[in-house]
Amino acid sequence: MSRNTSLSFEVFPPKKEEEFENIFDFLREAAKLHPDFISCTYGAGGSRAGKTIEIASFIQKELGIDAIAHITCVGFTRADLEKNCEALQAAGVNRVLALRGDRPQHMTDEQFNSREFFYATDLVRYLKEHTSMQISGACYPEKHFEAPGLEEDLIHLKEKVDAGVSSLVTQMFFDNTCFYRFMELVRAKGISVPVHAGIMPITTAKQLGTTVSLSGSSVPKELADLIATYGENKEDMRKAGIDYAVRQIRDLKEHGVDGIHIYSMNKLKTTKEICGMI
Ligand code: FAD
Repeated sequence: MSRNTSLSFEVFPPKKEEEFENIFDFLREAAKLHPDFISCTYGAGGSRAGKTIEIASFIQKELGIDAIAHITCVGFTRADLEKNCEALQAAGVNRVLALRGDRPQHMTDEQFNSREFFYATDLVRYLKEHTSMQISGACYPEKHFEAPGLEEDLIHLKEKVDAGVSSLVTQMFFDNTCFYRFMELVRAKGISVPVHAGIMPITTAKQLGTTVSLSGSSVPKELADLIATYGENKEDMRKAGIDYAVRQIRDLKEHGVDGIHIYSMNKLKTTKEICGMI
């Protein structure tokens, strides 16, 4: 990877305690691929919630790689946020991805709508005023699913960046033309911060039914055909999915993207293979 284009990974705290040690093995190996940063997700309200700090701390302190801890409006009161930021800073983590978060299954609409920080921008303003954290934010090349249109979404994205976001990470997308169109609009809006393109390797047919449909990202015919052809054969599907992601990344690099952010899904073999090919 040319170092003009940054490389980064996203990991998540594994759901089962017995899988927890594996994440550290993943991270030790992933560190050898020299990413510019590794981000760790936060699941509001789940039993894994506290694990984000532990993982981010390991990335920062043990591996010496910039860690980004995700934090969400959902599940964080002002007091929780203060405690969380203190713990992160004590662990040497100075970067966060400030998000609104989605409503967890167990949460009622009333609970969801009574959160203290309503939009990610509210969280960004608070962090900017009360901490020295470096703040990233999320953006959506195919618009956020609740936004009435891309233009409205971009207006709010500009507000978020103006509030203090210094880089953006995109939702996964599979059609680079959507990203290029989005980037033109982003720059035309006066948003000049680096934008890291989120790439999700599709290595099983099942992923389309879960992660992808939740993301709201469109699936181009080429990818749908590939799943129809290889979906039944595990290894062929994995190879074809990696090949698709690699072609996407090469094309993005040729178009001068700021960064490639791989949604690693904690899968070492896939992450390594992709990095080896780009
Ligand atoms: P916001 O920026 O707050 O936007 C949400 C919606 O509100 C948009 O439609 C926007 O247009 C609209 N909006 C914003 N401001 C206003 C306003 N002033 N008035 C009216 N409308 C407004 N979720 C997790 O729970 N944990 C994670 O770790 C996590 N990691 C993620 C990482 C990335 C890179 C991405 C792209 C998403 C991640 N998510 C995560 C999912 C994210 O929380 C959801 O997509 C959520 O629905 C939106 O979060 P946001 O920060 O983009 O929200």
